[in-house]
Amino acid sequence: MLSIVSLVFRAKEYFEPDERDEVSQMRLAVIGSAGSYPAPASACSSYLLQHDGYQLLIDAGNGSMSNLYNFTTPGHLDGVFLSHPHVDHIADFVGIYHYRQFACVPERKLDLYAGVETVDALGRLLGSDLGDTVNINIVEPSKIFKIGPFEATSELMAHPVQTYGLRLTAKGKSIAYSADTGPCESLEVLSHKADLFLCESTWIEESETYPKDLHMTVTQAVGFALRGEVGKLLLTHIAYPNSPFVALAKARELGARNVELAFDLEEHSI
Ligand SMILES: [Zn+2]
Repeated sequence: MLSIVSLVFRAKEYFEPDERDEVSQMRLAVIGSAGSYPAPASACSSYLLQHDGYQLLIDAGNGSMSNLYNFTTPGHLDGVFLSHPHVDHIADFVGIYHYRQFACVPERKLDLYAGVETVDALGRLLGSDLGDTVNINIVEPSKIFKIGPFEATSELMAHPVQTYGLRLTAKGKSIAYSADTGPCESLEVLSHKADLFLCESTWIEESETYPKDLHMTVTQAVGFALRGEVGKLLLTHIAYPNSPFVALAKARELGARNVELAFDLEEHSI
């Protein structure tokens, strides 16, 4: 039977994070990794990047808000970057907005970073200009801007709607995020020598029937990782029922050495 002393010790462990965790690394928690639509036990695209006490949510796809509570609450987020207006990347921003509007009203407004088309889509979804709860920062291509402790830059991707990929740097470490995209030069720019390259690989096998400028295969994702000499490739947005494990095996066959799969609720240090 557990003694009171050991229970107190364990509670302390749980509520007071070990100071060794306070190193200046970035930590990326995968909140949702499913491609295009939810998969069994997996929400759509969303990632929580934490550094120096700042919490940035990157995309908020459908189903992801439930997973977010494993790491933080919507009221504790400092910023949200939304790559593009497709539902599997923005739907749960609606819940985050309502949580901060009604359930737990933080002193500070939420900093939103998104392209103008995404902001317009949110306005239509919410029937609001967002201004009561959100500071809107319109993202434009090839500009350097600040998000909390990060230096950020965004580029337009090859996707049917206005879509921004993202690169974030802090203390000499960088993470690149492809968002949704077909192969494009912008992705070469964003991913070059990134320490962590979070890259979509919606499809596994090549097919003539895939539309151009929509998504990528594992082969294409690995090609960008190798050419860009990235530190680690994290494959994400693999569309069910494609198997992530088949994708991983293929990536290794193609020569990707440091490659992992993005799974919901797993964390990666950068
Ligand atoms: Zn999309």
